[in-house]
Amino acid sequence: MTMLKTFKQAALKSLKSAGVSTLVHNSRWRRQRLLILAYHGISLSDEHLFNGSQFISAELFRNRLELLKKTRCAVLPLGEAVERLYRNDLPDRAVAITFDDGTSDFYRRAFPLIQEFGVPVTLYLTTFYSFYQRPVFDLMCSYLLWKGRTNVLDLKKLTGQDLKIDLSSHDARTAALSHIHAFAQGQKPSADEKDAFATSLAAQLSVDYDALLEQRMMHNLTPNEVSQLAAGGIDVQLHTHRHRTPMDRQLFLREIEDNRKSIQEMTGKNPTHFCYPSGVYDLTFLPWLREAGVVSATTCESGFASRSSNELLLPRFLDNATLSPIEFESWLTGISAALPRRRVGTRAYAGGRS
Ligand SMILES: [Zn+2]
Repeated sequence: MTMLKTFKQAALKSLKSAGVSTLVHNSRWRRQRLLILAYHGISLSDEHLFNGSQFISAELFRNRLELLKKTRCAVLPLGEAVERLYRNDLPDRAVAITFDDGTSDFYRRAFPLIQEFGVPVTLYLTTFYSFYQRPVFDLMCSYLLWKGRTNVLDLKKLTGQDLKIDLSSHDARTAALSHIHAFAQGQKPSADEKDAFATSLAAQLSVDYDALLEQRMMHNLTPNEVSQLAAGGIDVQLHTHRHRTPMDRQLFLREIEDNRKSIQEMTGKNPTHFCYPSGVYDLTFLPWLREAGVVSATTCESGFASRSSNELLLPRFLDNATLSPIEFESWLTGISAALPRRRVGTRAYAGGRS
């Protein structure tokens, strides 16, 4: 045997034994863990090109559901999954599927696929924009800046600032958005004033706003749609009324209460599971959540939930358009846990709107 061949065989052998032990390790390891998948929107048209971490195409969502089936994952209703996690009674490859926010595309794009595949799904619904049927302000502004990215934005006409921004780069659009945020924070405009702002932003960027409104782009589900979804088996849960978590106990509890009452009106059921808006959590919230009768809460920290996870700080896995089928599958099987990945520290705040 040549030296090279000996070396190659030894390397292969060690790789193989490492691989096998990883697999064995992971099957036992995975059985004690719950993978909670997190989604936001399924594109009505080009939203996944605008933001691939918040929107995926219907085609990609279908592929994910097919892969869940092919890999024989046990997709459980969230409440049952959390109960069985702490009872140490999870089936193999346990998964729960969650959607955040409740944008209107959920009814038209996600729901038909969910019904076709017959999987249980939890929708964390923020309710203010369900009653106020106009675009979600932050999301629409961000989308408009992307739609109008061949333009130069003149902030003078919008915020009064003497500033022009060429929107062709991602960084420039982020900067423009932060100017708009700062303006909205400072002026505290009403919902109608924000809506008028978004309308003028669209006009300045020559985006056909009426067409977007007609599609109900960046709108939330209507109360009637939520009722139909609940009747069709979708589990509707808490995400605050106005997509925010004030650091004041009374204001925090009011967010949960307004959200809960709205969901009860729409579904006839009492929601007890919660998801932190934008993934923002703070240990201060935990007693307040318990006080509000919340039995589980999910974050945007990436990972598997285990029995050692705090039930009010359950990690999730944010599926997104940049993830290949093999990478997604490695999360379903648990192999991903053995692969090197970016370390997630104990940050109090996670980025991104969710
Ligand atoms: Zn959210």
